[in-house]
Amino acid sequence: MQNRQNQIEPEWTIIKILQWTTSYFKTNGIDSPRSTAEILLAHTLGFKRIDLYLRHDQPLNVGERNLFKSLIRRRISKEPVAYIVGSKEFWSLELVVSKDVLIPRPETECLVEEALLVLDKDKVSAPKRILELGTGSGAIILAMATQNPDQQYFASDISINALAVALNNARHLGLDEKIDLFCGSWVSPLKENNNLFDIIISNPPYIRRGDIKTLQPEINRFEPINALDGGEDGLACIKHIIKNAHKFLNKSGTLLLEIGYDQKKAVDEIIKETGRYAQASFRKDYSGFDRVVCAKKAYD
Ligand code: GLN
Repeated sequence: MQNRQNQIEPEWTIIKILQWTTSYFKTNGIDSPRSTAEILLAHTLGFKRIDLYLRHDQPLNVGERNLFKSLIRRRISKEPVAYIVGSKEFWSLELVVSKDVLIPRPETECLVEEALLVLDKDKVSAPKRILELGTGSGAIILAMATQNPDQQYFASDISINALAVALNNARHLGLDEKIDLFCGSWVSPLKENNNLFDIIISNPPYIRRGDIKTLQPEINRFEPINALDGGEDGLACIKHIIKNAHKFLNKSGTLLLEIGYDQKKAVDEIIKETGRYAQASFRKDYSGFDRVVCAKKAYD
């Protein structure tokens, strides 16, 4: 009997499949239908996207078509492309992602940019100690470490599975020797008056619990809920970090946080009420939302 897996059906060439899938995604309300089709087909074939056009008249065999169909079904069920292909680009780095970690967002690059500015301002030559809380895929700390490999990097997460992803990414980037990873909730694994840091950085969960159900299904059905859920008012983790991070900052240390688009006023109040930081500054993301807060520790 003929092996069906190796049977080639000449009518299903790369270009025809791309055309069919694009219109199928469009009909089903999938964002960026053409590029989604290209990314999934390139992933199926182990190609770069450009190869799809260089080899546009190559037919797919049955095995390839079946694999591609299963990826189409996953995307139609709203699974994010990053989880389907297992990677996402952030800060021009190709990062591994799994359902244990939030998919890095472009606006989080603003947080990294702000942290790099803070590092640049301080010209003291001794290596700086930088800690990320809730690192997930490691996107933030790894972006900083690729940019400034001579500092000392630390990152924690409550999820051991997330730490495995971060470690995997650190290894791929050759940065695993540069970063100490540890497991625990926010600052709880740290000892006070020991281990002081120059920068503490985090993109904590900040979505109001009641708003989670209104988010896109890609987010609320697939991304880890504990990386999104900021409690009833969305501010629970932000508040906890602000109230505790100063104990682990050096004299001139800085806390940097990503915040929700409408949280500037509330965050400013929490910082003032804590009384341990000099005035906070805010930075907008590229959509014009206040997205990053930067708070320098006040002198005692
Ligand atoms: N920015 C994310 C979103 O769009 C939320 C990330 C977070 O809670 N830190 O849903």
